[in-house]
Amino acid sequence: MKSSAQVVVIGGGVVGASVLYHLTKAGWTDVLLLERRELTAGSTWHAAGGMHTLNGDPNVARLQQYTIQLYEQIEKESGQDCSIHLPGGLMLASDETRMDFLRMAVARGRYLGMQLEMISANEARDLFPLLDPQYFVGALYDHVEGHVDPTGVTRAYVKCAQMAGAEVRQHTPVTALTQRSDGTWDVHIENGDPIHAEHVVNAGGLWAREVGRFVGIELPVLAMEHHYLLTENMPEVADYVAKTGHEMPMALDFAGEIYIRQEGGAMLLGTYEQDCRPWSPKETPWDFGSQLLKPDLDRIAPELAVAFKHYPAMGTIGIRRTVNGPFTFAPDGNPLVGPVRGLRGYWVACGVMAGLSQGGGVGLALATWMTSGDHGDLLTTPIHDRLTAANAVWGATFGLEHALWFQEAGKEPVEEVTFHRSNAWNCVAGEVAAVRERVGMTEISNYAKYRVTGEGSAGWLSSLLTARMPAPGRITLTAMLNDAGRIVGEFTVARPSDAAEFYLFGSLPAEVHHSRWFRHHLPSDGSIRFDVLGLGLTGLSVAGPRSRDVLSAVAPDLDLSTEAFPFMTFRRVDLGMTPVHLARINYAGDLGYELWVRPEYQRELFDQIMAAGAPHGLRLFGMRALMSLRLEKSYGTWFREYRPIYTPAEGGITRYLRLDHEFIGRAAHEAELAASGPSRRLVAMVVDPDPDMPADVIGDEPIWHDGSVVGWVTSGGYGHHVGKSIALGYVPAELATPDGPGGSGLEIEIIGRRRPARLQPEPLFDPQGLRMRQ
Ligand SMILES: Cc1cc2nc3c(=O)[nH]c(=O)nc-3n(C[C@H](O)[C@H](O)[C@H](O)COP(=O)(O)OP(=O)(O)OC[C@H]3O[C@@H](n4cnc5c(N)ncnc54)[C@H](O)[C@@H]3O)c2cc1C
Repeated sequence: MKSSAQVVVIGGGVVGASVLYHLTKAGWTDVLLLERRELTAGSTWHAAGGMHTLNGDPNVARLQQYTIQLYEQIEKESGQDCSIHLPGGLMLASDETRMDFLRMAVARGRYLGMQLEMISANEARDLFPLLDPQYFVGALYDHVEGHVDPTGVTRAYVKCAQMAGAEVRQHTPVTALTQRSDGTWDVHIENGDPIHAEHVVNAGGLWAREVGRFVGIELPVLAMEHHYLLTENMPEVADYVAKTGHEMPMALDFAGEIYIRQEGGAMLLGTYEQDCRPWSPKETPWDFGSQLLKPDLDRIAPELAVAFKHYPAMGTIGIRRTVNGPFTFAPDGNPLVGPVRGLRGYWVACGVMAGLSQGGGVGLALATWMTSGDHGDLLTTPIHDRLTAANAVWGATFGLEHALWFQEAGKEPVEEVTFHRSNAWNCVAGEVAAVRERVGMTEISNYAKYRVTGEGSAGWLSSLLTARMPAPGRITLTAMLNDAGRIVGEFTVARPSDAAEFYLFGSLPAEVHHSRWFRHHLPSDGSIRFDVLGLGLTGLSVAGPRSRDVLSAVAPDLDLSTEAFPFMTFRRVDLGMTPVHLARINYAGDLGYELWVRPEYQRELFDQIMAAGAPHGLRLFGMRALMSLRLEKSYGTWFREYRPIYTPAEGGITRYLRLDHEFIGRAAHEAELAASGPSRRLVAMVVDPDPDMPADVIGDEPIWHDGSVVGWVTSGGYGHHVGKSIALGYVPAELATPDGPGGSGLEIEIIGRRRPARLQPEPLFDPQGLRMRQ
């Protein structure tokens, strides 16, 4: 028995077992899984075993696809029966909005290689005769859906891992975790000596919060009750099997949040309860194990009523068994996977609400992260009430609220959600017009901000970033690459003076990831200091042809002429009484400025600019308008156009690379260029929206050429000033130039309809960039 291990995985549910398996696959075989009772003794043992590939997020869909494909492999490798059934599945839409969702899902599934098709309600009935087609508009049919035996799957993962050298200890509750001064862990167990580990993984499922509290953190995980029913055997099922020779497909019915599938000669029907109940909201009792919760059928009566209407035979058949069990959710329904800031060697793989659909992908993602070395609260800034008073419709980035757009006075600041053009359209158009014709102001506190100081910081930053560091008072745009030459970051770097002090501005959702990367590379002698500024620095952006006039009115003594304060200048100035780091740069691609201030000054500065801007027709604008403006300039954005699957040559940002210095990823970049160059490229396209159903891309739509899917959209929307629907996306390099085959025949599938798309090699607005330099 191991007294030490490279990794101790806490929890033998389907997720912990998958993590263990994937660690051994990645070559880490000195691994140990500790389970309090028997394997599966949390949520896993009573799961219905259903699995789907479809997910609103293509990356999660990919993980689900991977999970389902993995089952045959682990069954074969381990010899453990997983009871794999793949009868296919239907997603049933009872209204047009759901149909739009399904059409978009089909489109996104194309470049993931999913076998999805849209079918009519009658065709759905032919596949699944229990349904009454009058209640449905249509359906999506996914050929690769089904169910497995959760216990079989968990055991199969574990057996494969054991065959590779992993050890599994059941009936071994972990009671505490203590960290040694070298960052390694002592894992204290109830029945033996502590086990020494370099890494621990919290795969505690229902007890993930408790395993988090062992190290003083409170994980945002909550268990909810969940019911499913198993009917008596049904003659309709027997008839179907006799006639077709195979099992009925599964069905997912959005109207009642119902899933329904065959189980032997009977049907299993579950529902995501609308009248939902958290279970044990503060603590999960340690003596809870293989028991179920008391069913409460009254609570799910509305969903059952929908089920009995949509599937009439279900209303008359007897119920053999009712299962009510708890399983965990993180706030956005996605799994909580990765390292924990400030806790070296402590990893989480929990909050997995669909362990049989996602467990394989979660295990793969965490194991890859651990072995190859790769994220709530609702935060507001001081001008939140000012923007609310201006009728802001609020959105959030990584917990920080930001204004999406501003509703007309007197109307409710609510967006009517649709896949088409929403009620935001006219307001956003007005905000864009204000910026392009006069002047607008938006808040930009939702960027990540870092400060780097200390002798040698220019050299250190240059070793990580692809550009040379800016001269005093100047700004540089740069990328950050990994060893493989892929884009792991994109930053604006600014140097206010000749002191060794740099400000970096980047993506807020990537802040945790980026700060870990920077800290990991800090010199060990303490000569350089890296600070995450967070909401210690707030920002405003003032953009548009009259922006200089507005700022000059706030600070008449400040010379903002292009001669004195040219494009890409960054300086510490006083605007009125407010100390500001003023940058002559902006994401709208117009004459404009970014103003960075400590939060205690933000309201005052905001009020001054609003007052000075009134004679110039200044209008507040939100993120929607900013996105429209940046699309008109073909500016990419982190996580959409730029992310670690792309190289700078693919993303068209080689202008951010200066090969006059060494930096991480340079060799790989040069090798890519020396070989055949990038195989795909980021392009901008102008799309012809369907006049009968105007809608713009939102991202992840497939790009077609010559009858095949050749690429995907990364982001897009409507360019209100240029009056065009714009999409950015990746296509094969040979299709990326207008004088090549991609010059004609490109199409983008938007909500089920393929629309012609033309390559747009130059920005639609101000291609020479004269406006921002004027
Ligand atoms: C009624 C119901 C139906 C469901 N149907 C489906 C479905 O059809 N498809 C699907 O994908 N998902 C389904 N789910 C969800 C699924 O059950 C979960 O997503 C999955 O089981 C989560 O697995 P896990 O490993 O994260 O957690 P768990 O299964 O809770 O496993 C955690 C394990 O960690 C152990 N542990 C905790 N603390 C310690 C400690 N200190 N020391 C040692 N061991 C510890 C526990 O004993 C437990 O075995 C269903 C859930 C319910 C309730």
